[in-house]
Amino acid sequence: MKEKLDLLLERSQSKYFNYPVSAILECFDGKLFYGVNVETASPQAGICAERNAIFSAISCGYQKKDFKRLYLKAKTNKELYPCFICRQALVEFCEENMEIVIYFGDREKIVTVKELTPFSFSGDDLK
Ligand SMILES: [Zn+2]
Repeated sequence: MKEKLDLLLERSQSKYFNYPVSAILECFDGKLFYGVNVETASPQAGICAERNAIFSAISCGYQKKDFKRLYLKAKTNKELYPCFICRQALVEFCEENMEIVIYFGDREKIVTVKELTPFSFSGDDLK
């Protein structure tokens, strides 16, 4: 999956922060949804790679029960973790035991949504 993420990085639109990120959401049926970060001059109008992949899957009718694993890679060897806006989307649209595989150069780290989002807030808290 790392090679696909590297190819996907070339589609990132990140001329303002120059921080390309790619994401692939793998579903249990084998379907892959791709995402890259897309920046605009107004940062709030852009989107991160993680949410791009998740929202694409949702747009195609997939749901949290269908999501097997999320893969992430940035065009840097530094450790990368999803931003807090993406963490909120992960809490709401992915199972808490879904794995997130994050590549840092030649290394990789696997964390679950729950490990990444302790003390999270979701729609259940509004009931
Ligand atoms: Zn994000």
